[in-house]
Amino acid sequence: MSYVIEGTTGAWELVIGLEVHAQVISRSKLFSGAATAFGAEPNSQVSFVDAGFPGMLPVINRECVAQAVRTGLGLAAHINLVSRFDRKNYFYADLPQGYQISQYEHPIVGAGAIEIELESGETRTIGITRLHLEQDAGKSMHDQHPSKSLIDLNRSGVALMEIVSEPDMRSPEEAGAYLRKLRTILRYLGTCDGNMDEGSMRADVNVSVRKHGEPFRTRCEIKNVNSIRFVMQAIEAEAKRQIEIWEAGGTVDQETRLFEPARGVTRSMRSKEDAHDYRYFPEPDLLPLVLEEAWVESLKATLPELPDAKRARLMRDFGLSRYEASIFVMEQVTADFFETVAAGRDAKLVANWMLGDFFAHLNRTGTSIETSPVNAARLGELLDLITDKTINGKIAKEVLELMFDTGDAAGAIVEARGLKQVTDTGAIDEAIDRVIAANADKLAEYKAGKDKLFGFFVGQVMKAMQGKGNPALVNEALKRKIGEPAAS
Ligand code: ADP
Ligand code: MG
Repeated sequence: MSYVIEGTTGAWELVIGLEVHAQVISRSKLFSGAATAFGAEPNSQVSFVDAGFPGMLPVINRECVAQAVRTGLGLAAHINLVSRFDRKNYFYADLPQGYQISQYEHPIVGAGAIEIELESGETRTIGITRLHLEQDAGKSMHDQHPSKSLIDLNRSGVALMEIVSEPDMRSPEEAGAYLRKLRTILRYLGTCDGNMDEGSMRADVNVSVRKHGEPFRTRCEIKNVNSIRFVMQAIEAEAKRQIEIWEAGGTVDQETRLFEPARGVTRSMRSKEDAHDYRYFPEPDLLPLVLEEAWVESLKATLPELPDAKRARLMRDFGLSRYEASIFVMEQVTADFFETVAAGRDAKLVANWMLGDFFAHLNRTGTSIETSPVNAARLGELLDLITDKTINGKIAKEVLELMFDTGDAAGAIVEARGLKQVTDTGAIDEAIDRVIAANADKLAEYKAGKDKLFGFFVGQVMKAMQGKGNPALVNEALKRKIGEPAAS
């Protein structure tokens, strides 16, 4: 069943299209040699071009163009060998040029697609309309001085990719899945770090509502939303607002809105400008951008394996379920970690331990795969101790916890704490005898037909052996000693 919001007049369908601004990973800016590092002293990374000094000429940064092409290829999109830069004119205090150099009618990348996966296991394809290159603006700071606003131009001129989707999404969940997937692809490609909290990726969220089967209605655009959770909340709040308007007999005006996370509502920012308000014209300081097919091909040849392909390979080569593989490919380091541990080992065992206790301890200790004290080699050693029956699974859980807390290797922990599994049948038999002697009443009940008590005996024996008994051997010996219960 697809996602709808029930109004007083029945069910409403949501229509969502996203415009994502992704900051290009590049040491210098789109049209100047100034640096782009995050968190630098304000105005320490500004050239005359970025500061909009008259007569300064932009020079295109080849690496930024390569990054846009790589991204287009990663989105299975059409690369336009000829594209053009346009001047988008508007006045803004943090835009000293008085215009933004962007691409309008002839973007560098055309139509592509992203496949998303939903909680239900369903997959959907979301169309990409285009990707274009443009300059970022500076940043006004209103909280640094009691009566003045200050401007930091470090970001001015930094290369952005604007990635525009088709209005193909139908629920907040789909929008969230789209953004996560896009971020994963950008990170695999190394073209944007996807850090929404540092502003390297932000989304403009277009929302409209309609009755099933109708043509699209007027949309509103919610500007600059900086977390996936907020995007999802903003969509729901905005859709509800529009439904109320339509149901009250009003009409939704096309406008630009802002999301207020604290109140969970969107509010009007300005009525939407049309393209002609920007007086777009071809940027006179730059030639059209012409790419050689061979150069595009050479970039294609160096693309990494992307998440969808990697997921398919993990399923095929390691026998993982789609769910397991999907989790591992969300981040490249996670997939690499899995592959390193799984090489030459039982892949299912590795997957179960990673998805279970290993991730839980990363969470508990606030570490990531990169900073975890338990690296791939160390986790592998632990699993080897299970496989060669040095320790049982229950003890292994304790050992993993100690590995996280002490930074010690599995072998050393097992050695130092005497956690080796007891496979000596004499010791097992002896523990069983002790348990039977102490639980004569329970044994009588068991013999009389209460067969569930078998588990009780296993538990007692394991306890008597400080958890170190080999579970299979304990089961076997116990069956031998206490026999089958009477048929009840
Ligand atoms: P603009 O350049 O004026 O922002 P676009 O046509 O490029 O307009 O569309 C911007 C975004 O709005 C795209 O992501 C598109 O998918 C989305 N969009 C267009 N029409 C609708 C609609 N009726 N409802 C929701 N989203 C829409
Ligand atoms: Mg727009």
